[in-house]
Amino acid sequence: MHTLKDYEPIVGENVIEELRVIASALGDKKVQNINSTAVGGGVAEILHWLVPLLRDLGVNASWDVIKGGKDFFDVTKKFHNSLHGKSEILSAKDYRIFEETTQKNINEMDIYGDIVFVHDPQPAGLVKKKDEMQNKWVWRCHIDLSSPNPDVWNYLKGYIERYDASVFTAPQFSQELSIRQAQITPSIDPLSDKNKDLKDSFVSSVLEKYGISDEIPFITQVSRYDYLKDPLGVIDAYRIVKKRAKCQLVLVGSEAADDPEGAKVLKEVKKKAKGSRDIHILTNISDVEVNALQRASAVILQKSLKEGFGLTVSEALWKGRPVVASDVGGISLQIKHGFNGLLSHTIEGTAHMIRQLLYNPEYAKRLGDNGREHVRHNFLLTRHLKDYILLFLSLEKPGDFVYLQ
Ligand code: UDP
Repeated sequence: MHTLKDYEPIVGENVIEELRVIASALGDKKVQNINSTAVGGGVAEILHWLVPLLRDLGVNASWDVIKGGKDFFDVTKKFHNSLHGKSEILSAKDYRIFEETTQKNINEMDIYGDIVFVHDPQPAGLVKKKDEMQNKWVWRCHIDLSSPNPDVWNYLKGYIERYDASVFTAPQFSQELSIRQAQITPSIDPLSDKNKDLKDSFVSSVLEKYGISDEIPFITQVSRYDYLKDPLGVIDAYRIVKKRAKCQLVLVGSEAADDPEGAKVLKEVKKKAKGSRDIHILTNISDVEVNALQRASAVILQKSLKEGFGLTVSEALWKGRPVVASDVGGISLQIKHGFNGLLSHTIEGTAHMIRQLLYNPEYAKRLGDNGREHVRHNFLLTRHLKDYILLFLSLEKPGDFVYLQ
């Protein structure tokens, strides 16, 4: 586990010193994070470093996970999809399942934070407990809420407006709410297994392990197998590229414990890729192996149809890789088109951009180099820690609007 001192060579001594000063103002306040899965997906990814580093700063931080059965996670997946704008029918039974599981968690969980920091819709209903406590509650929305299904959003809003403050990733996701809203983008940990520097020999061994040729360039997308990540569209784009350029495709996907749709999507992906030995479909590989594949990729793709932030984009940029990503959600905060990556809108456009990068390695390198610096200044965890600590401090000083970036 890393300490903040380990980040000094990357971000500079004064950044760390500033964090220590502002964190000390929190005193002995307990900051309790709550989400719905310990592994898989971006939220778990962030909490894995956030909690230990807050503790290193002397903050009394902890992380708990709600419990729920398959029926509950089926419902919350429908919530997730509809908040992303997909039309889903939610029945009275669905809402009842959500409420019953929420109540069960309220009864069985120890909720003790002076600040209860709840992530995403699944545990949002825990806020019912707030009335009997003298504490502050923050709801962190990690998803793209730019055009939510109004029924589901209005239902959820009944809970959200009971919080003291809310946090969104991008300005276009904020909603009309009676509570304060902050904009805070996520970030990556440059020293984690996912992002740390690796020896070339290790990278080669990972390619060999998964049967990927190191003589033919490959394009990679790392994402949960989810329709919104458009793995099927990735294969379509790849097949267009493949007509004129020699290359391979690597799809890396994990199954998140709170995502019941993953197995179905993976099956469809395998069916579509059947017979193409140059398409490598990998599941549940380790972080350091994901890192190795990102580093060895000629181009990294993030062809999402909707995206909260898309940590995978910052991960790829930090490794100096050229990225082609859809111009959706938080991705456009990370990529300035033509400067540190390319933003696409269609399958054909995606294929065209991939080819541009494969044919022009100098251009690809320039985008990658700019990408790394963009992440260093905006999307490393030290900036994120600072934003959260300032938000926690601001809870004691009610105002109209917190806008941290
Ligand atoms: N991830 C992983 N292995 C996989 C797929 C995803 O480690 O097979 C990680 C990925 O590297 C990133 C996170 O899961 O850190 C996904 O976060 P993102 O914000 O891109 O998407 P989300 O899953 O939260 O929608």
